Amino acid sequence: MKLISKFQDEWLVFTPIKAEVTSRLYQSNLPLVSALCLAALLAVAILKTSATPSHVYLWLVIMAITYAGRILLKISYDRTKPVNMLWLNRFRIATALTGLAWATSTVLLYQPGDTLNQSIIIVSLTGLCAAAALSFAIDYIVLIGFLLPVLISVIFRLATEASHTSITLSLMITLFLMFVIIIARKANKGYIENISLAKTALLGENREKANSRIMEMIANNAPLNKILVAVVVNLEEQDPSMLCSILLLGRDGKHLNHIAAPHLPNFYIEAIEGLEIGPKVGSCGAAAFTGERVIVEDIINHPNWSDFTELTTKANLRACWSEPIKDSAGKVLGTFSIYHHNPTIPTEKDIQSITQNAALAGIAIELANHNQEQRLAALIYQNTNESMMITDTNNIIVGVNPAFTADTGYSAEEALGKSPDFLKSTHHKKSFYTKLNQKLNTTGKWQGEIWNQRKNGKIYTEWVRINTIYDKNNEVINRVSLATDITKRKESEDLIWKQANFDVLTGLPNRHMFHDRFKQEIKKTQRANLPLALLFIDLDEFKEVNDTLGHHMGDVLLKETANRLVSCVRESDTVAYIDAVSRLGGDEFTLILSELKDPQCVVRIAQNILKKIAEPYHLGDEVTYISASIGITLYPADSSDIDTLIKNADQAMYTAKKKGRNRFSYFTASMQKSIQKRMRLTKDLRRAIEKQEFHLVYQPIVNFRTGKIHKAEALVRWQHPTKGLISPADFIPIAEETGLINEIGNWVFLEALEQSIEWRKSIHSNFQISINKSPVQFYNIANSESDDYLNWPNYLRDRGLSGECIAVEITEGLLLDTSDNLRNYLFAFRDAGIQVALDDFGTGYSSLSYLKKFDIDYIKIDQSFVQNLGIESDDMALCQAIIVMAHKLKLKVIAEGVETQEQHDLLKTAGCDFGQGYFYSKPLTSDNFENFLT
Ligand code: C2E
Ligand code: CA
Ligand code: CA
Repeated sequence: MKLISKFQDEWLVFTPIKAEVTSRLYQSNLPLVSALCLAALLAVAILKTSATPSHVYLWLVIMAITYAGRILLKISYDRTKPVNMLWLNRFRIATALTGLAWATSTVLLYQPGDTLNQSIIIVSLTGLCAAAALSFAIDYIVLIGFLLPVLISVIFRLATEASHTSITLSLMITLFLMFVIIIARKANKGYIENISLAKTALLGENREKANSRIMEMIANNAPLNKILVAVVVNLEEQDPSMLCSILLLGRDGKHLNHIAAPHLPNFYIEAIEGLEIGPKVGSCGAAAFTGERVIVEDIINHPNWSDFTELTTKANLRACWSEPIKDSAGKVLGTFSIYHHNPTIPTEKDIQSITQNAALAGIAIELANHNQEQRLAALIYQNTNESMMITDTNNIIVGVNPAFTADTGYSAEEALGKSPDFLKSTHHKKSFYTKLNQKLNTTGKWQGEIWNQRKNGKIYTEWVRINTIYDKNNEVINRVSLATDITKRKESEDLIWKQANFDVLTGLPNRHMFHDRFKQEIKKTQRANLPLALLFIDLDEFKEVNDTLGHHMGDVLLKETANRLVSCVRESDTVAYIDAVSRLGGDEFTLILSELKDPQCVVRIAQNILKKIAEPYHLGDEVTYISASIGITLYPADSSDIDTLIKNADQAMYTAKKKGRNRFSYFTASMQKSIQKRMRLTKDLRRAIEKQEFHLVYQPIVNFRTGKIHKAEALVRWQHPTKGLISPADFIPIAEETGLINEIGNWVFLEALEQSIEWRKSIHSNFQISINKSPVQFYNIANSESDDYLNWPNYLRDRGLSGECIAVEITEGLLLDTSDNLRNYLFAFRDAGIQVALDDFGTGYSSLSYLKKFDIDYIKIDQSFVQNLGIESDDMALCQAIIVMAHKLKLKVIAEGVETQEQHDLLKTAGCDFGQGYFYSKPLTSDNFENFLT
């Protein structure tokens, strides 16, 4: 068995050489010519014997055809290409056919009984055989193929029909020829040796050639995969019985993934792709894991392969030898493996070849990795946005990258050979560089912000990291500095800081900054043990400027105001620093007067501010006048808490406004009390709904024409457990501020709605209750999708109620909101049948034009107009005008606060539709209301 396999190997390994030599024989004309001559001579000689001439001619024809075939084969053979198996086999067949042709001579030419004839044939054929033995010795198949037919035919003839003479003769000649062969072989020993030498040389040469081709590929940076495939193909060509593969170990060092195995079946490659290595995983996994060669002679009987039996059977693989591929440091890079279709033990040569090829693959892989790293490094150096600068031992620049040029404006030529000092700006003190160098000399590293100067003179900020490369003796070879230009980032940070802390319009510190400053100033004055004053300045009726002259003019006025305030501060810079003025938003400004040595100066400054603001404003072509109200609070007299101080100033400012504007007001103890009261109320209000402390009262609304009462206004009352009845005028504003108005408003709505439904049954089918709805409620419902805010029209629709049972009273201010949300919401009221009344008409800003835009049904003339009605009074004229205009717009008019018979009469004559007031009735509880009507 072993012998056969060895023979097979020999066979396969030397096939190319045999083919080569055989083909050379075929190319040479000598055998052809000599064979043809021999054939001709034989024919002539035979004709002299008792042979039948026609047989001789037939034989000649066969010879001619045979050799013609050989000549054709010779011509069709392409000498430029190496001999392959196909051609070798063609040669073999041709030789065998030639042998057959010669064998026909014993059939056609042989004459029994004719010693001469027999001798000629036997002698010439044995001579031919000897010559063939010499020529074809290189390939046994050729030799046997030729000799067999010839010898069999000769021996057959000799054994059956030859005369004693010819047998004796033949034996003698054969012995002689054998002797000649031995002599010839000896004589040709050199030639034979040459052939075997040539065989080995050729093998080696092929391997060398292949190796050098691969080395060339490696040197030319051919793609790694191509190189590995070449290694594999190479070995497979040298020994076609082998199937080779190279597997690379993945980056994680645990999986085999990249596979170069052009002749392994695809399904096999797919199956082992990503295979996790381990001490017992096949041959390759084990080799990669252990770093040792793993030889598996028979896969079927090897424990390492037990998990892969199905796969290897399908791929028809029976042996696998695997050699770890290592880099120069001995690290495993992958495996080189040889498969066989049959169980196979590697020979010495196989081992040699597998180690050689694994080494070759190792070189290729290591180099490719190295190249890749170098290429990457170069790529990074060239393409990174970070500017790089490399200096040498003497702190001279030896390398810069394109980013350096982009950042500094200096080209590489300009920078190389210089000291990095040429980039220095004057921004840093000398000590900065001294410290930097100290750190570098001690640790080799430094990082931080450096302000440098560009070629164009501009200063820029860089974040710099410097590292040092040392030699074996710890001497500095290079320093590498990496820098990122952070100028833009710093600029944008500044900008963001400014935007966050300063008001864009006036450039003054904003609310955020004001708080910071205020804290600082309080600390400062605390240390100085002096008082501080905080002034809240609010423009009076600034909204009107915005509404009448437009927002742009409003902005101009605010800017001008800011300038005037700052100029006031400048004039008194002994008590206030320059940034003391802030704008909190809108038309609200603050002023901090810290470290007050003379508290009297606060009054002077406040008066000065009022005077300055009262001066005319030139807004475009218009001249406008405006005033301000100022609230003042003192630290630490009023409070030492920052938030309280701010609230105090605000409160004082409102007092100034209430007192008639264009004045200042100090925060007082009574204000303090009202603030506290307010805070307590807020707390109580939160619990009032749960505790059912609210109830409704209803004030009748009288129809002037019929004198009947089919309408009432619902007014909320808060029965406080300790404070008694609290007026809505006191708690509604708080509810609005805190958002509690939504809950309270919805409660009022539901309560009034039930009452209206009841009274529509008991009093009159058209009875209508009007409900006050705060603007805050509208904003919330219009701007929020949340369920917290009851949608009144939807609620009525869902309950199948007519909207006519209620009316909603809104204030004029609400109509200034021109958003679609509000309009749509009001239209939803109209669609639901809910009527809308405009409350307190005449006190706000709105004009009659608004009434047309929104679908309003009633206007309620404010009680302040009704109160002073007299026959010839201004208010009478105003009321008349309102009524006439309202009627023109198809609106009904309700007069509020009717207290006297005279007022009632005047309004009735003026054509007013409804009246409401103490004259008819105060607001009543529902029971009293019912009693009142009966
Ligand atoms: P308003 O809507 O103008 O309501 C009329 C106010 O005038 C009521 O005061 C009423 O009692 C009072 N009044 C009625 N007739 C006369 C009169 O002849 N002479 C005088 N001097 N006053 C009269 P009240 O009930 O104190 O309500 C004050 C304000 O509170 C209301 O003014 C309204 O704006 C608000 N308010 C009351 N209830 C609610 C409510 O349920 N929701 C909302 N959002 N606001 C409400
Ligand atoms: Ca009202
Ligand atoms: Ca009113």
